[in-house]
Amino acid sequence: MITVIVVFLFMELFVCFLYKFVIHGFLWVLHEDHHRPKEHRLQKNDIFSLFFSVLAFIFILYGILSGFNIYFWIGIGIIAYGIGYFMVHDIFFHRRIKIKYIPKSAYMKGILNAHGHHHMKATKERAINFGFLYANKKYNVPD
Ligand SMILES: [Zn+2]
Ligand SMILES: [Zn+2]
Repeated sequence: MITVIVVFLFMELFVCFLYKFVIHGFLWVLHEDHHRPKEHRLQKNDIFSLFFSVLAFIFILYGILSGFNIYFWIGIGIIAYGIGYFMVHDIFFHRRIKIKYIPKSAYMKGILNAHGHHHMKATKERAINFGFLYANKKYNVPD
């Protein structure tokens, strides 16, 4: 269980780093359509989600074959983060699935607001807020 939590927290840092230096760097070609105003149903950006799903699958499969060792839990941690990311980013923020959801908690408002700022500064070089499940206090939305 502790492994899942550690992996989950690590993923946030890792994804943050990945966005900042890789996705808004040499892999910008895959992310650029995510910053275009018109959102297609499938974006090149989804390759990143696919990549992490495959990675998690490999960890879990290997973990099961080795008798549910630590690799299994690492895989579960990646999946847990992936679900959190997908819910917050793809559903709550970008509304790729239509649901009635109105953010109520200060935490949710904060992280959604922070991602809004990421999309406002939408160029390769100048972008901010790369994390997804943690937002700086300055993005807190006053009630
Ligand atoms: Zn986005
Ligand atoms: Zn971006």
